[in-house]
Order: sequence, then structure tokens, then C-alpha cells
Amino acid sequence: MVKDQKFYDILGVSPDATEAQLKSAYKKGALKHHPDKNAHNPEAAEKFKDLSHAYEVLSDPEKRQIYDQYGEEGLEQGGAGGGMAAEDLFAQFFGGGGGPFGGMFGGGMREQGPKKARTISHVHKVSLEDIYRGKVSKLALQKSVICPKCDGRGGKEGAVKKCAGCDGRGMKHMMRQMGPMIQRFQTVCPDCQGEGEIIRDRDRCKQCNGKKTIIERKVLHVHVDRGVKSGHRIEFRGEGDQLPGVEPGDVVFEIEQKPHPRFQRKDDDLFYHAEIDLLTALAGGKIHIEHLDERWLTVDIIPGECISPGEVKVIRGQGMPSYRHHDYGNLYIQFDVKFPEHLGGEEGAPMSEEQIKALESVLPPRTAASAPPPTDAMVEDFTLETVDAAREGGRARGMAGAEDDDDEMHPGAERVQCASQ
Ligand SMILES: [Zn+2]
Ligand SMILES: [Zn+2]
Repeated sequence: MVKDQKFYDILGVSPDATEAQLKSAYKKGALKHHPDKNAHNPEAAEKFKDLSHAYEVLSDPEKRQIYDQYGEEGLEQGGAGGGMAAEDLFAQFFGGGGGPFGGMFGGGMREQGPKKARTISHVHKVSLEDIYRGKVSKLALQKSVICPKCDGRGGKEGAVKKCAGCDGRGMKHMMRQMGPMIQRFQTVCPDCQGEGEIIRDRDRCKQCNGKKTIIERKVLHVHVDRGVKSGHRIEFRGEGDQLPGVEPGDVVFEIEQKPHPRFQRKDDDLFYHAEIDLLTALAGGKIHIEHLDERWLTVDIIPGECISPGEVKVIRGQGMPSYRHHDYGNLYIQFDVKFPEHLGGEEGAPMSEEQIKALESVLPPRTAASAPPPTDAMVEDFTLETVDAAREGGRARGMAGAEDDDDEMHPGAERVQCASQ
């Protein structure tokens, strides 16, 4: 005598129904009331949920026993975390994936797609030279592949049995009586250690030791295209891990450009920092830049062009190749003009009259700051001293604001970016 007959009534069977009868009753009812077949019919949706719940309970011998003995209350007390979503149960019943309506209703069933192995991601660091020229990197990875000896079964054909203890699920419901309540909990099946399968030791595949997969080394050819940028992703679909019963995973390489000692890159443009002496800045000369493809660029500085400290010039078309275009960015050069420590004769000796005259003959005349004060002003005379770096270094630097040469490139480079757009 059962305590409560509700679940049996929902399925339209008697309380002494066999498992097969339950199954067939559920199948009939679920197909009839499935939401995909009954759009805009909340009653059917409700019925579908009830059917699923009833079947979920009665198809599980442990749950059915509790239900028969204690009714729905017994289940609620014990069933922490139990209760499967109706759709999940339905999917499981009809073999997962597409379900019975895949073809019938023209894809009406939500497409979940087959399960897939995880994606193997790898950051591929590439030098600026390699990005400039383009290259093919051969990268090796370790991945799991379906064991070729047992075809992923784990043992001899027919030797792999579904675990009877958990019905192949790997998890098992256990029950514990605690006073008037029955506590039900889920645990990894002890018979199969959660595998859902049992293989006798002597039938176990020798190559994979029953694990169904083996580790294989695979070399992939990664095309680093000319001008590719950091963050670009190169995908190899299905080249990742293989696992039994799921779609093979993907492999994704993400390009990361390594910092370069001579050039900085911004999009397709290159930035270069050149230190020149004052004589070259004023009277002209040449600078030589080693490019990224073993060429050297010889750059003429025209006499009298007068390069100022921090000034930026450009050589068009000598930047990076632009990705998938037959085009190049620009090469921007920022100049640091190195002034001489001292001009004149011996250390500390002032310039001679002739030297001063020679400079005055080519340089523009002195400007306002060096013009004399008004005739009625009070005048005191001073000379400059060298700043003591140990005592006043910080202050002197604060004023000049440009002690670190490398940092100077950035603001200059930014300016050029804006100006060139
Ligand atoms: Zn088991
Ligand atoms: Zn094997």
C-alpha cells in the first residue's frame, strides 16, 4: 500500500507499474506535452513539468521507495539539491543532444550543440623583426588523443561494462536514517570511482591503461603574418584535446609582440630615438638606423636645418607593414641633441674672441632675455655655478624635467600620433 498515489496518477499508471510501464507512460506524455510542440499553452508546460518530476522520482528505485513509504514529504526532506530540470531529464531520456524534435519541428528545439573539450590557449611571443618580415612558427603542444589501440573504449571490445552500482552515471544517491528523517545525499560511486564503467584488470587496454586517451605531441604551424598586432588570435579548430564522446577542443594562439630595444611600435608606425651632437644638429651630418630587416637606413641631416632637442621628424613608409594591406606605416625619429659640456680652450677657460665672433656670424642675434636692463635700474653682478648633483640634483631635475632619456620618447611620440592623423 503506497502512502500517496499522485505521481502515479500524473503518469496514468497504477502504483504497481513496472519500470518499463513507467518509462513508456512518461515517453508518451512527455512527447505530447513538450513545450516545443505546445507553444503558448501554459497548461501543457505545467503538465510537462509535472510528468518529468513524477517520472524522475518513480524511475529512481531509491526515490520511489521513499515516495511509496513517506509520500512527497519524505522526498522533500531528504532531497536537498535533488530534482532535475524538466528539460534536462527530457534530453537525458532521449539521448541528450538534439532530442526527438530535432528533425520533426525544423530545429524548434533549442540547439545546445555537442559537448566540446576545453580550448588550449597559448600566448605566442614574437619579435618585432619577425612581425616585420612575417614567419611561420612551429609550435609543439602536448594533447590527449583517443587511444588508437582500444579506439577510446579503455579495454577489449565488449570488456567495458556499464557500472551496475550507479547505472553508469558515476554518481550515486546514498541514504541515511536520521531519527524520523531520511537524509539523502549524492556521492561518487564507490564501485567505479565515478567512471560509470567497470573494466576488468586483465581486459584493460595496455596502451592507455584504461584511460581511453593517450598524450601525444603535435606540431602546429602558426603563421605570423606581416604586420600582425598583439592580441591577434590564430585558431586551430579541433586540434585540441580529444576525449571520448565529446567534440575535440580548439587550440588558440594569441600573438604578443616582444618589446624591442631600438623601436617602439604604435599601430603601423615605428618610433626611434636618435641622439645627435650639437654640431650635427646645426651644421648637418648623417645618422644610421639599423632597421628590422637587416637594412641600414642612412639619414641625411641638412646643414642649417637646425634640429632642436626633442624635435620629431618622419621618414614615410619606413614603419611596419600594415596587416593584410600592401602598405607601410611611418618611421618617426625623435632627436635628443647632446650639447657640449664646454666650449673654448682648456677646461674652464672661456671661448676666445675669434670663436665667439665665428658663432655670432652664423647664429641669430641675442634676444630679449640677454638685452641690458633699463638705465635707471639697480644692478648687481653674478656668475653661475654648477649644480651639486648630490645636494641639489632633485631640484635641478625638477626644473629641467628631462633627466631620463627613455621616458622622453613617449610624450613626443604621442604628439606625433595626434599630428599625423
Ligand atoms: Zn558506478
Ligand atoms: Zn587504449
